[in-house]
Amino acid sequence: MQNFISQSKLTRPVVARFVAGDHLEDAVNAIQDLNSRGIGGILDLLGEGVTDPDGAQGAADEYLTSIKRIEETKIDTTVSIKLTQLGLAFDKGSCIDHVRRLAAEARAVGTYVEIDMEQSEYVFDTIDVYRALHPDFPDLRLAMQAYLRRTAVDLETMATLKPKVRLVKGAYAEPEEIAFQKKNEIDAQYKFLTEWLFERGTMPAIASHDERLIDHAKAVALHLGLDKDSFEVQMLYGIRPQLQEKLAADGYKVRTYVPFGSAWYPYLMRRMAERPANLKFFLRALASRN
Ligand SMILES: Cc1cc2nc3c(=O)[nH]c(=O)nc-3n(C[C@H](O)[C@H](O)[C@H](O)COP(=O)(O)OP(=O)(O)OC[C@H]3O[C@@H](n4cnc5c(N)ncnc54)[C@H](O)[C@@H]3O)c2cc1C
Repeated sequence: MQNFISQSKLTRPVVARFVAGDHLEDAVNAIQDLNSRGIGGILDLLGEGVTDPDGAQGAADEYLTSIKRIEETKIDTTVSIKLTQLGLAFDKGSCIDHVRRLAAEARAVGTYVEIDMEQSEYVFDTIDVYRALHPDFPDLRLAMQAYLRRTAVDLETMATLKPKVRLVKGAYAEPEEIAFQKKNEIDAQYKFLTEWLFERGTMPAIASHDERLIDHAKAVALHLGLDKDSFEVQMLYGIRPQLQEKLAADGYKVRTYVPFGSAWYPYLMRRMAERPANLKFFLRALASRN
C-alpha cells in the first residue's frame, strides 16, 4: 500500500495540500508567501525512523543546507527536527551531537530549532536530549503531547528550566494505558497544560487548529495580563489557512509548519487519521481517476 500510494501520480494533489513539495526551494517559496502575510514558518524536512549513522548524517547535512538557505533568503522561519531522523533510536550520543550542531548553526543565522515529539517509546529519550542541550540552548523548543498521561509530570520535572514548549494534542496511535483517548479528556488536559505553560514556561506555542483551545489560550493570556505576543499559535501547512491569516491580522504571532521532501508517507497518513474527511477526499481523488 505504501509503495502504491507513494508512487502513484493520483495521490499528488492530495499530498500537495499538506506538503510544500519535494525540494527545499518549494518550502522556501511557501514560507516567503506566508511571511508576506505576516506568518512565520517552521521548516520541516520530512523523514523519521532512520536506522543507520549514514542516514542520520544525511538528514543533518540536509538540515545544515536548509539553515544556510534561511540565511541567504532571510526568511522568517524556525527549523523543526525529528530525533529519530538524527539517529535517536540507535545512538543517542551522536543524535545529541547532531542537534547541538544544528542548534548552533540556527542560532548563528538568528533562528532556533524545534524538536518534534514522536511515538511514546521515544518520549523519555527525547526529553533527555532536550535536557542535555538546554544549558547551552535554552531557546530550543520541545513539543509535548497533551494526550499522554505522563506529560503533566514530565513538565513538572522540567519546571526549573522554564521550558519553551510547543503544546500539541498528539498525532500517534497510543494505547489507553498511556494516552487519553476521548476528545473531552484530551481537550481538558490541553487546557490545563496551557495554563501551566503560561505560568511556568517560556513563550508557549499553542499548536492546534482547534479554535476553542486557541480562544482558551487567548483568555489565559488576558487573565494573566499578558500581551498578544506572549505566546505563539502554530498550525500545519494546508490546514485552516484563513484562520492562520485572521489570527496574524489580529496581531497574534502565528507560525505554520511547512514540511518538504519525498518521505511524506507517514506524515500524510497522520493527517488522514486526524480527520476522516481527508481520507474521503483522498479516496475520491483515487476513485475519480479509475
Ligand atoms: C505546528 C504543529 C506541530 C505539531 N507537531 C507535533 C509533534 O511534534 N508531535 C505530535 O505528536 N503531533 C504534532 N502535531 C499534530 C497534533 O498532535 C495533532 O495531531 C493535530 O494538530 C490535530 O489536532 P488539533 O489540535 O488541530 O485538533 P483537532 O480536534 O484534531 O482538530 C480541530 C479542527 O482542526 C481542523 N483539522 C485538524 N486536523 C486536520 C487535518 N488533518 N486536516 C484537516 N483539518 C484538520 C478541523 O477543522 C478540526 O475540526 C503538530 C501540530 C501542529 C499544528
